[in-house]
Amino acid sequence: MLIVMQENASEAAIENVIKFIKQFGFDAHVSKGEAHTVIGAVGSKMIDKRDIELLDGVKEVIRISSPYKLVSRVFKEEDTVIDVKGTKIGDGHIGMIAGPCTVETYDQMEATAEKLNDYGVKILRGGAFKPRTSPYSFQGLGEEGLKILKEVADKYNMAVTSEVMEVSQIPMFIKYVDILQVGARNMQNFNLLKSLGEIRKPVLLKRGLSATIEEWLMSAEYIMAGGNREVILCERGIRTFEHMTRNTLDISAIPVVQKISHLPVVVDPSHATGLRDKVAPMSKAAVAAGADGLIIEVHNSPETAVCDGAQSLYPEQFKELFTDLKALAAVVKKTF
Ligand code: PEP
Ligand code: MN
Repeated sequence: MLIVMQENASEAAIENVIKFIKQFGFDAHVSKGEAHTVIGAVGSKMIDKRDIELLDGVKEVIRISSPYKLVSRVFKEEDTVIDVKGTKIGDGHIGMIAGPCTVETYDQMEATAEKLNDYGVKILRGGAFKPRTSPYSFQGLGEEGLKILKEVADKYNMAVTSEVMEVSQIPMFIKYVDILQVGARNMQNFNLLKSLGEIRKPVLLKRGLSATIEEWLMSAEYIMAGGNREVILCERGIRTFEHMTRNTLDISAIPVVQKISHLPVVVDPSHATGLRDKVAPMSKAAVAAGADGLIIEVHNSPETAVCDGAQSLYPEQFKELFTDLKALAAVVKKTF
């Protein structure tokens, strides 16, 4: 249920409404828009909406039938902008995140980050805990990987993102990373999502391998329901009958989500295609379709990469792509 306050509603009136709905067991989520304050009342209890409409300063009460509330544009009309160490993602700002699939060594991260920094990348990626299909594949360096990632990023004044796989790792991640990534395989790890709702750092939520857009948005709702407003959605390709690419990039998910939700939508063309030569065309398609950001795998030496080398760009390839993307961004009236 959404409670839209009158334009001139006082703080006291807003507080009074919050107090009122809390008595009935609802959580209150306040969104202060340019014209109106909207209070999202989230809970499963029954309440007569007329009782709320009679309160001071209330303009209207809207029952929301869609399962997601806080992620929807009804709750918050304006685009959400995520600010990561001064780099903005959303509302015309396209974020660029790049780096290797996984942190291997200090030298590998350093060599990659040095180039990316030269090219103007502000957010570095690198997995330290890897969700691998086979238990015999490299599982990541763990905390040591996060330390390397942060050390290298600090050297170049970059922000970092890395995948968190379980609840118990969250305090460790908060020490090292600026954006906590939830991988496709964990999109419906509801305990993890709930715990990420309690922190106050951005979360990049990847779409599950076979998740519908509605399921994806419901997972974002889990995080937001805990009070964390900083969610970035990431389309990374879905599983289809097609085998020529690793996954099938659902470009249409970008405008579909952006119509329903105020949250930024970032695209991962690397895991979507699994093929280096498909990364550039799909990145361009994503920007043309309105993506709010990209997360691209780049490795200083893809042929020796421990994982996902075949989909990792050479630094020089990335440089050329980034130049093209900046030109393309201007066409869609956005900037990197
Ligand atoms: C990754 O970004 O390292 C990753 C494992 O991606 P996904 O969860 O999309 O498969
Ligand atoms: Mn990877």
